[in-house]
Amino acid sequence: MAANGHPPSFFENVNINFDKAAAYTNHPQGLLDQVKICNSVYQFQFPIQVEDGYEVISAWRVEHSHHKLPTKGGIRYSEDVNEDEVKALAALMTYKCAIVDVPFGGAKGGIKIDPKKYSVHQLQKITRRYTAELVKKNFIGPGIDVPAPDYGTGEREMAWIVDTYMAFNSGSIDGQACVTGKPITQGGIRGRREATGRGVFFGIREACANAEDMKALGLKPGLEGKRVVVQGLGNVGYHAAKFLQEGGCLIVGLAEYEGAIYNLKGLDVEAVVKHRKETRSILNFPGATNMASTAEALELDCDILVPAALESVITKENAPRIKAKIIGEGANGPTTAEAGEILNRKGTMVIPDMYLNAGGVTVSYFEWLKNLQHVRMGRMAKRFTETSFDQLIATLEQKTGKMFLEDERKKLTHGPDEIDLVNSGLEDTMIVAYNEIRERKMTVGCDDLRTAAFVSSIDKIAHSYIELGIFP
Ligand code: GLU
Repeated sequence: MAANGHPPSFFENVNINFDKAAAYTNHPQGLLDQVKICNSVYQFQFPIQVEDGYEVISAWRVEHSHHKLPTKGGIRYSEDVNEDEVKALAALMTYKCAIVDVPFGGAKGGIKIDPKKYSVHQLQKITRRYTAELVKKNFIGPGIDVPAPDYGTGEREMAWIVDTYMAFNSGSIDGQACVTGKPITQGGIRGRREATGRGVFFGIREACANAEDMKALGLKPGLEGKRVVVQGLGNVGYHAAKFLQEGGCLIVGLAEYEGAIYNLKGLDVEAVVKHRKETRSILNFPGATNMASTAEALELDCDILVPAALESVITKENAPRIKAKIIGEGANGPTTAEAGEILNRKGTMVIPDMYLNAGGVTVSYFEWLKNLQHVRMGRMAKRFTETSFDQLIATLEQKTGKMFLEDERKKLTHGPDEIDLVNSGLEDTMIVAYNEIRERKMTVGCDDLRTAAFVSSIDKIAHSYIELGIFP
């Protein structure tokens, strides 16, 4: 319970987790307070014209920490957006960037609208006006604060944002880096769309590769045959489910807001998505059993549960009934702090959001770098690499007298394209960060990966403040 007698809010939940971890560090309280607090909260209203008059729209941009610049984080369009939520999400961005060594402070934006209720034209007007408000107050810019997609937004909105920003900053050479998650034609990077889901896959794969940890959970190492339930078939959930299936997992349950389906023999993710597009519902998928609610799907018997929709879906109420041995948090904040404690006591392995869904911001970082460099990654090295490997192969053939097959030669001499570099940078980031957290858990002696992740990121942020000379 929070001090006011209500269950803790989302931001309070983040801070409960923070305080638990802070107790394992020896930073002075003033420094911890500075790390924890949201530095700037900009709340604003603006009117837009609708069919029968005007409507006033509420919006936010929160910059949680300026220990590194720019600040970074997505923009959410949802009727449930509120200040506490945007603050919580901005704070999580700070910790997330620190975990994966992406040199940004955390931020988040939100517009309180249900995008389904507006025409594309109206959404464009709302997005452009929101951007103009950010420009006015210096809350956007390649070195200031760089938005990205989040729940309810995507490449289309990011294109409107960059175009509006450029209208106010005509001639700005680095202007394209004011926002990430853009369409490829507008300065985006290949692999950004699927990055969060791919990162979730890499993180879960790394956790499952550890034979000792899997043994403690009563599971075999590796992904092969692991039964997975995914909640949310949006950008994150869909890609996570797809990559986990390709990696050998059996997707036994899929949930969306209209209901859920399961099939113990496994569901074909692509076919379910196609069915949902055609029938406008996930229900009644051939061969699967319908479940009345998304909530029920969370309690299905499975090895891995991936909540990939919104926050606070695993609470102290349903946590005792969760059967999954591993929870991979694709969404931000899906588990409340109290639920987290229950899961720890049950021995469930929770792979925390601030690590597991960091693939999106990691590839956003690559996009930002690409925009600042003004050159596509791989452009300079691709042909050089191919020629070098060609020569190497030719020399080998000459020396050994054996010829490579055409397919082998093609594979061995392939120079990296942008997508190869993005995916390998993402894979390495997720593997390194997982092992850092896992080792931290052991050295610190805490009982869960979330606390270990927080300890690691608090230390990194605290050191930045110390290096800046703000704290001794
Ligand atoms: N909205 C995403 C997140 O929550 C991505 C943020 C970004 O790319 O800046 O991590």
